[in-house]
Amino acid sequence: MRVHPGSGTWPEDGTEPYGGAEPYGGTEDGSAGDGVALREIGVLLAGRGVAVLSGAGLSTESGIPDYRGATGRARPRTPMTYQEFTASEAGRRRYWARSHVGWRTIARAQPNAGHRAVERLRRSGHVAAVITQNVDGLHRAAGTVDAVELHGGLDRVICLDCRRTSSREALDRRLHALNGDFRDAGGRINPDGDVELPDALVDGFRVAPCEACGGVLKPDVVFFGESVPKDRVQQCYDLVDGARALLVLGSSLTVMSGLRFVRRAAHSGKPVAIVNQGETRGDALAATRVALPLGTALTALAAQLGSAGAADPAGRPRQGAGGGA
Ligand SMILES: [Zn+2]
Repeated sequence: MRVHPGSGTWPEDGTEPYGGAEPYGGTEDGSAGDGVALREIGVLLAGRGVAVLSGAGLSTESGIPDYRGATGRARPRTPMTYQEFTASEAGRRRYWARSHVGWRTIARAQPNAGHRAVERLRRSGHVAAVITQNVDGLHRAAGTVDAVELHGGLDRVICLDCRRTSSREALDRRLHALNGDFRDAGGRINPDGDVELPDALVDGFRVAPCEACGGVLKPDVVFFGESVPKDRVQQCYDLVDGARALLVLGSSLTVMSGLRFVRRAAHSGKPVAIVNQGETRGDALAATRVALPLGTALTALAAQLGSAGAADPAGRPRQGAGGGA
């Protein structure tokens, strides 16, 4: 998981306006309680101009496992830190070798029913803004082209020396040309495109430099140990401040980089609703919570809310693969 500077322990400040609202997600055995909670979320959100905050759980139905897995327990992993990446060529080789294998899964992934339902809710005016912690680009692929990517996007690469940005697709072709015999050891992929590989395999990998200046290329994503750019954080605060409610989708809110927006909404008296399969660090701040699978829950929510109450506020044409239905 990522932990950013400014992360801290969950404050015991006792100022949670929505604390203790309802029991978690309904009945012990199942869907009846979840269905009730889902309808409550629909009522809560109807016509509100909601801000969405999405996490890895929204992309699992696109074939990208989240950091936790079915048990809800975090899987052990050793993510690359910004410091390791910048400090040594060996660190960068490790990152790019693993990411080179993982990129294929990310690049092939398609938006799922959850991403498409979010886009329908945006077009019908119930959702006013989408902030995502995901770096897989799937909101954009579903047509939500102005989704704010809090942690950046794996489809872009930036040169740490000349700051030129370029596409990951182009870099992928160069890495293939440099590493024709590089084999996939078949490790499990993480939402940040990282795949576990044996050191011996990593050692033979050849990294590509910036084509403009020969400098160091880094994916345009926020690494463990790196800060989210201040202007991007402010943009997200502005979106939350401009919304009348916050809907959290598929995030355990483990890191402050996402949790702070939940706190911002709750502390300013806005209802927070959470759809996530497992407990979250924001549960005490939530007015309503439901633990249904995201695709099912969001499709039902979009159907419940329909197009009542609003035309497309952006007046924008439909775009992108998978944006239909
Ligand atoms: Zn450069």
